[in-house]
Amino acid sequence: MAEHTPMIKQYLTIKAEYKDAFLFFRLGDFYELFFEDAKLASQELEITLTSRGTGTDTERIPMCGVPYHAAEQYIQTLIEKGYKVAICEQVEDPRQAKGVVKREVVKLITPGTVMEGKTIQEKENNFIASVTDFLDETYGFALTDLTTGENFVTIIQGSWQDVINEIATTRAKEIIFSPDHSEENIKALLQQLAVTASLEPNEELPETFHSLVDKLEQKKLIATFGRLCSYLVRTQKRSLDHLQPVVDYSPTDFMRIDLHSKRNLELVETIREKKKKGSLLWLLDKTVTAMGGRLLKQWLERPLLNKKQIDQRLSMVETFIEQYFQREELRELLKEVYDLERLAGKVAYGNVNARELVQLKRSLQQIPIIISTVKELNNCYGGEIIKDIDTCDELLIMLSKSLKEDPPLSIKDGGIIQDGYNEQLDQYRDASRNGKSWIARLEQQEKQITGIKSLKVGYNKVFGYYIEVTKANLVHLPEGRYERKQTLSNAERFITPELKEKEALILEAEERIEQLEYDLFLQLRENVKQYISKLQYVAKKISEIDVLQSFAKVSEENRYAKPQFNDERHISILEGRHPVVEKVLNSGEYVSNDVIMNEEREILLITGPNMAGKSTYMRQLALISILAQIGCYVPADSVNLPIFDQVFTRIGAADDLASGQSTFMVEMLETKNAISKATKNSLILLDEIGRGTSTYDGMALAQAIIEYIHDEIGSKTLFSTHYHELTALEHDLSAVKNVHVSAVEEEGKVVFLHKVIDGQADKSYGIYVAQLAELPDKLIIRAKTILATLENQPSYQKVSENLIIESDKPVQLSLFNEGEGKTKKQVKPSSDEEKKVISSIKKLDLLNITPLEAIQKLNDLQKKLKV
Ligand code: ADP
Repeated sequence: MAEHTPMIKQYLTIKAEYKDAFLFFRLGDFYELFFEDAKLASQELEITLTSRGTGTDTERIPMCGVPYHAAEQYIQTLIEKGYKVAICEQVEDPRQAKGVVKREVVKLITPGTVMEGKTIQEKENNFIASVTDFLDETYGFALTDLTTGENFVTIIQGSWQDVINEIATTRAKEIIFSPDHSEENIKALLQQLAVTASLEPNEELPETFHSLVDKLEQKKLIATFGRLCSYLVRTQKRSLDHLQPVVDYSPTDFMRIDLHSKRNLELVETIREKKKKGSLLWLLDKTVTAMGGRLLKQWLERPLLNKKQIDQRLSMVETFIEQYFQREELRELLKEVYDLERLAGKVAYGNVNARELVQLKRSLQQIPIIISTVKELNNCYGGEIIKDIDTCDELLIMLSKSLKEDPPLSIKDGGIIQDGYNEQLDQYRDASRNGKSWIARLEQQEKQITGIKSLKVGYNKVFGYYIEVTKANLVHLPEGRYERKQTLSNAERFITPELKEKEALILEAEERIEQLEYDLFLQLRENVKQYISKLQYVAKKISEIDVLQSFAKVSEENRYAKPQFNDERHISILEGRHPVVEKVLNSGEYVSNDVIMNEEREILLITGPNMAGKSTYMRQLALISILAQIGCYVPADSVNLPIFDQVFTRIGAADDLASGQSTFMVEMLETKNAISKATKNSLILLDEIGRGTSTYDGMALAQAIIEYIHDEIGSKTLFSTHYHELTALEHDLSAVKNVHVSAVEEEGKVVFLHKVIDGQADKSYGIYVAQLAELPDKLIIRAKTILATLENQPSYQKVSENLIIESDKPVQLSLFNEGEGKTKKQVKPSSDEEKKVISSIKKLDLLNITPLEAIQKLNDLQKKLKV
């Protein structure tokens, strides 16, 4: 370092503290980057890389720079790419500096702490999180959205993968770790999710935030939040008054849907394009405020388990559906409400401008009307929502009195404060106005005196006010009347002492006006600060109303039904639809389907041709359950459901290329995840399990999985398969039922009916689907011949029978199970049926059925044995 100039030495000292960030080093009107930063930034930002001397002339330092007034956009680009940027400013007046001007980093901008710009989506939170490893398979997790001030903490019990799932659920952009956190874990996280990892050694919660954790008891959680806050304080270096009291949530209080299942079900974005359009969120989002949009997403990520809470939401949705006009009126009112949460954040941060305070004012004007409209609905829960809203009347009065209706963006150029708000300001304005009208009169007066009609009084920044006379008219100007100031090609500009005097008065007044308006504005902004927590409360309540009206609107427009819940683990969905597929198809094209599941139908084994609608049917059940548990109506004629604690899905081939895992491995990992965590109260959807490996392997695994779920877990399960052999399981396992998606053949073509009915599919139709996909005719004909040959092999029929009866013998299994395209009726060993009957008898709850029902049941059982 010895050879460097003092400035570069200063740079290097500061850079040593911000090794993981681009250091934007202020030099006059530019931010400069040096050394490795410069090389990388020039690539990422596509700007020219130059170099500068070190002072020794032997070596040159790579360097690049961006003009400070355009820096915003460059910083955003880097943040979007997951980098951090440290802003280093000159902190003393260069004219008074002795030696190198003093410089300091004034803030560190990171993906989790950015407050504005493209990366901040209106309807999305921008979370930053911290994780502490408590070393006994428990982790502390804290979460903050700096833009809204929301804070959450929780304990995650489980593996590191569960932590990754939680991070994915919250979509946190940046994660803060202790410097001694396992590097391996951090690596695993970075491999799976596009997040930024940062280190913070201090876990002491800064004093100013103690009140936020009043309700928290666990010291370790406070420390996790402490680490996050310490990081925020260290990097942001400014007031964080808007941070809200910490909410301690437990992931087990909500329906758990792991990362893969969320993706598979396309809850908030589509699998392929990662777009909101086409997701469930897209369909549901009829919110009109940004806050409502964010809350909707939070709700969708965490469906409820508590029936009372679900019913409260549903009752409000019902009221909104019944009271159409009030709902529409409310939507109009909500449209006028700006993003109060983020406005509050900006107030705390000190970067709110006058326009935004006017937005705040307009929003506040709506609140009392919104409250009275909700009151009129006469809904208990609605009443509860609005009960404690403080309408912040004094704040509204303060803003109404002080701010002009349409202030400029800049807060330094005046034009913000109303007349009559401040006496001193009014006086300056009078002075300025008087001076201006004197000047306006001057033009008239001089025109008359000189007789020069084209004479005019003008103003420019360099010369101030002047009187302009065209060259042609100069002859008419009395000698010595004005002082010559400037000569143009066809005119002369003059001044008079009096004009200059007035000018000085006006300019002075204007300067004072700007300064005073600025001071008044800062004062006002400071005063607004004390309302931050009230505004945040209003925001929460308004967003809840917004989401509920959105549910009602969607439910009404799409003819949804109010779900009922039962404790008997029964599913009864009549005429159910997949909400999104229904929406994208033309009206009337969607074929609705029932789902009936109970103790005799715990597992439905779905067969049917490809493209028939198997996975749509499976997803439909999961989405209906999720919709019901977030308190929304559901796409069906009538629905009665259990409350599911978890939903697991293994649907579609989602190759996890990023982590280098094969489709089959992903399939197995997801299956393991499901069967190791599911309970009797969970919902499992498994689509074509075993497809990714050889037929026998796959089929064996599929059967073993079904048996395991049936015997060991008892979750409600939909299992779709193209292994027709598996349909024989219905006879072996009492709670497995075959259903299939029907298709018919018409003139050699398959027509999918999309109707799910009991029983197994009678054909595979694979070749027909290939035909539909327009594979070459020659190839299709050849496939048909091969199929016919295979089906005629004597070993073929033996195989499908062996599968069930001798399941633990190594048998040769075939891909197909039909002879000449017709289903071969399964041999039903009578012992199977007997076993099932015995199991049904065992399950009978004699104390809770009537004698008549008992006789009926007996009759049914007898019938089964007689078949
Ligand atoms: P599979 O899983 O059996 O291969 P999918 O569930 O992927 O089939 O469905 C294939 C396509 O069929 C879907 O993209 C959708 O367009 C259509 N489809 C599925 N179910 C229905 C239905 N119930 N009504 C109308 N069209 C449907």
